[in-house]
Amino acid sequence: MNLNEQLQAIQDEYLKKLPGILDQISVLARELQQTAPNRDRLITLGQELHKLAGSAGTFGLTVLSERAAELNQNLDSILSSKAAEGGPGNEALQLKDALDSLSLFAKTGPSPNANLPLGAGATPATINKLLLDQIWLLEGEPQLGATLMAHLESFNFSARLFTRLSELASAFAEEQPQILLLDLSSEDENPSTDYVSQCQFFQNTSSRVIFISSKGDFAARLEAASLGAQAYFVKPLDVPKLINRIEQVVANMHAPAEKVLIIDDDEMLAQYYQQVLIGAGMQAEILARPEKVISVLESNTPDVILMDLQMPGISGQNLAAVIRQYARWVGLPIVYLSAEHDPHLQLLALKQGADDFLVKPITNEHLVTVVKSKVARSRQLIDLMTKDSLTSLLKHAAIKDALRRELGLARRKKEELCVAMMDIDHFKQVNDQFGHAMGDEVIASVATLLRMRLRRTDVLGRYGGEEFVVIMCNCGSNEAFKVLDDFRQRFQELKFSVEGKVFSATISIGIAPIKPTMEIDADMLLVAADKALYQAKSQGRNRVILQKAETAAN
Ligand code: GH3
Ligand code: MG
Ligand code: MG
Repeated sequence: MNLNEQLQAIQDEYLKKLPGILDQISVLARELQQTAPNRDRLITLGQELHKLAGSAGTFGLTVLSERAAELNQNLDSILSSKAAEGGPGNEALQLKDALDSLSLFAKTGPSPNANLPLGAGATPATINKLLLDQIWLLEGEPQLGATLMAHLESFNFSARLFTRLSELASAFAEEQPQILLLDLSSEDENPSTDYVSQCQFFQNTSSRVIFISSKGDFAARLEAASLGAQAYFVKPLDVPKLINRIEQVVANMHAPAEKVLIIDDDEMLAQYYQQVLIGAGMQAEILARPEKVISVLESNTPDVILMDLQMPGISGQNLAAVIRQYARWVGLPIVYLSAEHDPHLQLLALKQGADDFLVKPITNEHLVTVVKSKVARSRQLIDLMTKDSLTSLLKHAAIKDALRRELGLARRKKEELCVAMMDIDHFKQVNDQFGHAMGDEVIASVATLLRMRLRRTDVLGRYGGEEFVVIMCNCGSNEAFKVLDDFRQRFQELKFSVEGKVFSATISIGIAPIKPTMEIDADMLLVAADKALYQAKSQGRNRVILQKAETAAN
């Protein structure tokens, strides 16, 4: 079954169950005729109407949904007035009649422009068909063009250079690269070119756009933003920063599918949302038992929770508050999805630590867009928290987490893995002789050189001040030694200059390799790499020492 067939099947099932749901509402509505109505049953009636308002709208029965929401409001006002206790007032009897005739609104069936099917093009697969794993660079200045191309290629990006926007635009009609790196300065100097209209060709495509400009003012940035620029670099270019940003953008494009946890007691609605999200390329799990939420969070680690506000025996607000009691889940985005129209109650719900409020019924496109943007934003924040600001490498805790993860993966895939620990030699002297700022530059250059020389699948971290950890996945010890020794030599060749004084620095490296059969945990592996580093230091520095696999665990 394809997605639309699956959604259709859930809708058909809903339509089959609808008469039963309406009958139940009629039965509960009989309470309204009683002289002493049972308040609990009236509250249940309100909950049923609330659910109906959300589900009927989602499945295309717009009129029924609106009517249910309206009757639920009338019921609320009767419940809050004395009428509910004083016997069947006129209002109550009228409401009872209105509830009995609800089924009339169901007869019309789903409207033809109902939420189904999912609009064509909404699935990433169709949009990405022509997407190449490539960067297209528009650079009118020949020298800068050549420099950038050389840098991009040294980072293993496949790049194509254009000197005119019009040429790039016509090539774009045939195929689309992942990234457009556009320097519009030369178009800018020619007052007859209106590049804003010329830039329309990449609007609403999947290619990510980065602007390079000679102007750094707000208006220029605003214009770039309106054209969809994800990043903006002002000349003279800081090439390592630019490369860094490109890597981030590419990593985002290859990011794993968004993981969504749906918590809703309305089983069919939950299934419906699940299918819509899966259809948009995400992973979605349903949790029907809210009391299990913490253990499910531990095992599923979702990127976002999509949660109903009213569930039997538990409110969404309280569930959100429980989740926030755990430090680990303080930042996890929680989005309510509820038929609650009252803005006061919506605000109240948001105060308990949720991030957004979506009102049922909601279109598929709206749901997908909100969920995707929440996840993207939250992943950006996680990036900020886990990456070091000087080098953009993973921080101490994050690289250790990464090592645990990669170690598990290597074992499952039965692959070799190497961990290297490295430390700049006599770094204190660098600081003392050339200043702390220069020291920072040396640290940053280690990171840049590591990025340039290592594979993009290798994981890099700044372990401490001038100490780094590198995880080389699917890599044997000989290869690791070769790559890192080459890195060491190139680092030694780098020339730093400050106030006319030129100097260079060296680095010592210890490698601990493992075979997939070895019983060793991440901490032991780091100790082994550190031991090898210590040997490199004591044998005279500026060298790589390889710990033997057999002894790495000892
Ligand atoms: P060794 O060859 O044995 O590693 O000698 P070393 O001088 O590099 O080692 P030591 O650990 O004694 O000194 C490291 C110095 O690094 C001390 C500290 O002030 C400096 N440092 C740590 N973090 C930073 C940083 O972020 N920026 C700068 N500029 N210096 C830092
Ligand atoms: Mg509910
Ligand atoms: Mg040192």
